[in-house]
Amino acid sequence: MADERRRGFRRIDKQTDQMVRNMQQPRLIAPHLLRLDGALPTLLGSRCSACGEVYFPTARGCTRCCGTQLEAFDLGHRGRLWSWTVQDFCPKPPYDGAASEADFRPYGVGYVEMACGLKVESRLTLADPARLRIGMAMDLTLEAYRRDADGTAVHTYAFQPADDEDTPA
Ligand SMILES: [Zn+2]
Repeated sequence: MADERRRGFRRIDKQTDQMVRNMQQPRLIAPHLLRLDGALPTLLGSRCSACGEVYFPTARGCTRCCGTQLEAFDLGHRGRLWSWTVQDFCPKPPYDGAASEADFRPYGVGYVEMACGLKVESRLTLADPARLRIGMAMDLTLEAYRRDADGTAVHTYAFQPADDEDTPA
């Protein structure tokens, strides 16, 4: 009897754990592009088994050597700002990050060079030219992008200046 009760409690504990995890997991606009290890996001790409070319987002075939064997490849969370600009007008659809022109807030867009050499196009958390510098270390983070009909914030990935500029990727 006591055993049965313990098992029951364990099952409830497991369900509660899963519910808490679900509540803590931010809703992502494109879950196939990244993985969350706790709060730390990692970009998910693929790498050609034949020539080593890396792709983001993942690719099914290699445009460099025509190879068809591609394996999952983590691009990590840190890179260097290679080039950037500020998007200061509301983009046309399929952009759906603002309900109207009036809601639109300018945002930074940049290419961030990852440790493997691939340049990833990404939104930036900053849109202030005074705080962006080519070559600066950038870390991947999540940024609220819009709200779903149920009110839940939907997040996209974005790069922010790294706090600890000198730590390697
Ligand atoms: Zn290849």
